[in-house]
Amino acid sequence: MIRILVLATLLGGCATTRPLTRSVAPSPPTYPGISVSIKRFIGDDYRSAEANVRKDIQRSRIRSLGVSADGEETAVAAASRRVDRALWATLPPPVLLAVDSIPCATNPGLELDLLVGEGQKRRPVTLWCRTGHDVDVAWGELVSPLDLAWDGPESPAERATALAERFDVGPILNGEREWSHQALNSLQAVLEALPAAELAALRGLPLVRDVSPSKLLAAAHAAYYEQGESGSRIVILNETFDHDGIAFVGSPTAPVRISVATMAHEIGHALARASSRTVVAELDDLDAESLAIYTSQNDAHAAAEALRKKANRAINTLNARVDERNAKAEAYNTAVETYRSRRDRASQRVVESLSVELEALDADVAGLRTRAEDLRRRQAHAGAEFERLRDEVIASNATLEAKQAELDALLDASPMLAAFSKLPGAGDGPTIYGRTSLEESFAEAYALHRFDPEALERVAPEMQAWFAAGEHLRLIEQRDTD
Ligand SMILES: [Zn+2]
Repeated sequence: MIRILVLATLLGGCATTRPLTRSVAPSPPTYPGISVSIKRFIGDDYRSAEANVRKDIQRSRIRSLGVSADGEETAVAAASRRVDRALWATLPPPVLLAVDSIPCATNPGLELDLLVGEGQKRRPVTLWCRTGHDVDVAWGELVSPLDLAWDGPESPAERATALAERFDVGPILNGEREWSHQALNSLQAVLEALPAAELAALRGLPLVRDVSPSKLLAAAHAAYYEQGESGSRIVILNETFDHDGIAFVGSPTAPVRISVATMAHEIGHALARASSRTVVAELDDLDAESLAIYTSQNDAHAAAEALRKKANRAINTLNARVDERNAKAEAYNTAVETYRSRRDRASQRVVESLSVELEALDADVAGLRTRAEDLRRRQAHAGAEFERLRDEVIASNATLEAKQAELDALLDASPMLAAFSKLPGAGDGPTIYGRTSLEESFAEAYALHRFDPEALERVAPEMQAWFAAGEHLRLIEQRDTD
């Protein structure tokens, strides 16, 4: 028999999205009769509930009714069609109402943590269908609506900033809806329960208070974790707080608001995907680095090209001047021959004048040659620098591709989920909602481990042992030290 917790109906669904796409769970999980029954608790007829439960015991629809009050040891108030009158008298009416409202016969293994109305107060009642006909029920002391008040002097915005700083998480952001003190109470309760390694894995992940983008989504999801092209975030919708008045998480002697478990569920998703989030951040850094190298390469190419043109121009100038000098040398040689045949003063003056001009041109050519050679050297140097950067670009592209492959592999199979999937019952989920997928199974198990470890122990002891041994923390830290 698979034991199931219907706790998840109240947690509300959520969508974890595949990176780079946005998807939601296909449809809201529905449990005929059960969510309806939860609503029935409020303002129902206590007297007929008691009569109904008695009838169920007499007709063996309930074979045993184990009771446990305020954490005291379990006794049996009813067994084998008989009722223990003394114990029966100690049952608060809301407990019988809870027993009457939950159809164990059709939900063996069902466990519910309910806040049942008793005057202005609420009675935390845990009901467990041990089998289809054996019911255990435990309750705690009457409580006022859980943790609704906040008497600190800060505004919600100041408090959100202070919480983000204190736990080094967030930012804690307002979307279409603002964080209220009530919502922050739940968030604070979650953050206070997380060990340092988990807080570190959430660093930089925005926690956004928002409204559901559609009615359809609101029906299915109380909150969601999103990981996509524009970054990752946890989004807390109004529906997260819908059941705070009628359900709780934890033991009935220390009830915690159910919205705390919903937030913990989303944090579970974020932890399962922590390694891929780290790789996405690394990929972003590499992208920026790669762009910088590519820009340098282009700059080096432009510089080498400019030097090549400059050097070519210098060589053309040099060549023209060499031609000029050679023509001048020819004229000089001709003048020397003329002088040799004439030996007159005029011819001598022409030779002397041409000699001066030739010397000047020789000096000019030498200067131009030095400049051209210098430019050629610089051009070669710039060309080598360009080639070095081109190799760097090629290397950087290879690094990027490898990192992208690493990310793809992590997205296909999160190491956390892979390890979790080996636990007995991982595929079935510790709750009905957890059966949706391995991701939801992990998130549900994580939330229960943090806020109702006794329930997880009852439903999936191997999962509770796995979390308690810190296996998930090892997987988070392993990535950090890689
Ligand atoms: Zn989920």
